[in-house]
Amino acid sequence: MFIKNQRTIKNKVSCFGIGLHSGGFVNMSLLPAPIDNGISFRRISTNKSVIGEIKAEYDLVSTTFLGTSLTSRDGKMKIATVEHLMAALWGCGIDNMIVEVDSDELPIMDGSSDHFVFMIESAGIVEQNAGRRFIEVLRKVDISEEGAHASISPNNDFSVQMDIAFNDQIINKQSCSFFANTNSFKIELSKARTFGFLKDVEHLKQRGLIKGGSLDNAIVIGENKVLNNNGLRYQDEFVRHKVLDSIGDLYLCGARIMGHFHGVKSGHTLNNKLLHKLLCDKSAWRMVQYNDHALAS
Ligand SMILES: [Zn+2]
Repeated sequence: MFIKNQRTIKNKVSCFGIGLHSGGFVNMSLLPAPIDNGISFRRISTNKSVIGEIKAEYDLVSTTFLGTSLTSRDGKMKIATVEHLMAALWGCGIDNMIVEVDSDELPIMDGSSDHFVFMIESAGIVEQNAGRRFIEVLRKVDISEEGAHASISPNNDFSVQMDIAFNDQIINKQSCSFFANTNSFKIELSKARTFGFLKDVEHLKQRGLIKGGSLDNAIVIGENKVLNNNGLRYQDEFVRHKVLDSIGDLYLCGARIMGHFHGVKSGHTLNNKLLHKLLCDKSAWRMVQYNDHALAS
């Protein structure tokens, strides 16, 4: 189904969970937003006073280590780990929404987009009286770095191919293709969890990082086995999560992309660099609004 109009959610919906980095509790609410608002993060204090807002924009991405973080232009406000929610918003076809959060990171939930999709569907989705905007890729843009590669090329819909290769027996080499017009984000990607190796987890925790990380919010790989009790949710869950991550990262361009993304060992850093390279080059894309096809790039 091709959705022509912008969409938001019908009702406010809230959850709480823990922050991956702080290990502390985080309250998060999703609220409807007006036409052309896009996705914005409203940082509130624990007593609910508003501290400020950050738009979900690619050029506000400040950190891409262990997740994608946004920092306000004045440098005073940060929201970490936005990619799994951004992927859920793309997957549910949400154009406009306010995300209210009382911490500087979003709750990690189970390490996938599953809970966020559930929240959005529970809130209800409404169409708004304005055409949806797309970024149409007009020519191929690519970037390579340290053995990783990412490209985006013209396509009449959005699609992703991801290839990953790890030097271990559990992940090894995996590839996944996702086509927006024929595949279901909810069924095929939304439940794929983030992952890590036990040896890295211990090292990161010693450095005071990922204090909230556990088997409840990540797949953890030990000596040639998955340590989570119930194993994997998809046989190729690792590469599916990398597709989910890339969709969340790419949705920070502010509109749905019409183009084909191909990542080879690509992660948050390269995904964001690709967006910068694409959007800096005005000859490589144009903004299209559904209905009038009036172009404003
Ligand atoms: Zn992720």
